[in-house]
This record gives sequence, C-alpha cells and structure tokens, in this order.
Amino acid sequence: MVMDGRSNKVILVSHCIINSNSICIGPKTPSIWPAMINEVVEVLMRYKVGIVQLPCPEQLVYGFVREGITKTEMDTVEYRSFCRRIAEDAAELVKKYLENGFRVVGFLGKRASPSCGVKTTQITLEGRNVEVEGKGILVEELENELKKRGINLKLIDFERTEVEKCLRELEDMVKA
Ligand code: SF4
Repeated sequence: MVMDGRSNKVILVSHCIINSNSICIGPKTPSIWPAMINEVVEVLMRYKVGIVQLPCPEQLVYGFVREGITKTEMDTVEYRSFCRRIAEDAAELVKKYLENGFRVVGFLGKRASPSCGVKTTQITLEGRNVEVEGKGILVEELENELKKRGINLKLIDFERTEVEKCLRELEDMVKA
C-alpha cells in the first residue's frame, strides 16, 4: 500500500472490455460500444479502481481481423499454453499487488466468450455454436494459476444484454 492519494485498488479485465478493436467479426458489441464499454469504465472511475487490462489471446493467436470460433475449435494444446502464459503473468501480478498491500477487487471477463467467459462459454454441438454454462479457456487457466498461488479472486463477466445487472454485480464487487 502506498499512502500518496492513490486508491490502492485494481481490477483485472478482459482486453476487449476497454478495447472493442480486439473483438472478432460478428458480435454486436462493437456497434454499441465502438471503443470500450463506457458504463464499466464509469463505475471503475467512480470507485477509483485502476484497470489492469489482460492481453486478448484470440487477437494475438487468430489475428486482428478474424471470424469467431468456439471453445471446442479453439481448445488445442498450443492455444491453451498461450492462455496459460497470460494467466501465469496475470496471477503473478495479482500476487505482487496483494503482497504489497494493494486490493485486487476481482476479474471482469466477457460472457459467452470461448476464452474470457466466466458464467458461460460457446462450444460446438452437433455442428452448431451453442452457449453453455462454463468458463472460457483463458479464465480456466487464470483460475488454475490463481489457485496454485493460493489466491481466491472473484470472477464475473459482462453480458451486453444484461448491462444493468452486470453493472450492479461489478459495483458490488468493487465496493465490497
Ligand atoms: S478473447 Fe477475450 S479479450 Fe479477446 S475479444 Fe474475446 S473476450 Fe475479448
């Protein structure tokens, strides 16, 4: 903790929460939020929470201009290892923040994402894309790396059709 006026509070967020330019072609999110999810940023500003933006694994592996694919299609050894490396770095960062007296309020992912979903993710079932309960690959790896370090971090996700509900959940998390 440093007593110079800073909030000593941070949150981990999926990359596209504050950069819609990383999203694949298809989702409606960029047409609603061309740059970032303003409402999320407003809550974080209000509660003085610093934003730690994780890299977007899909953008880095599958390209800056790409079609969406499901968790089933994405779950290869290589992609999982790539996500694990991001998760290791993130978990180490969280550990260091905590060791130094900062508060890490949690992680905000993206609902239904094959990589960053917390509550649901997307798989291929009988040739169709289906949203199912479960976590995305990056979130699974992050949870695992946090667990290895004995860290219990609250994980929630943002869903564009449930903005108010998600913002309330975020607010509860940051002010708890
Ligand atoms: S992989 Fe994660 S950060 Fe990248 S676009 Fe998908 S949800 Fe956003």
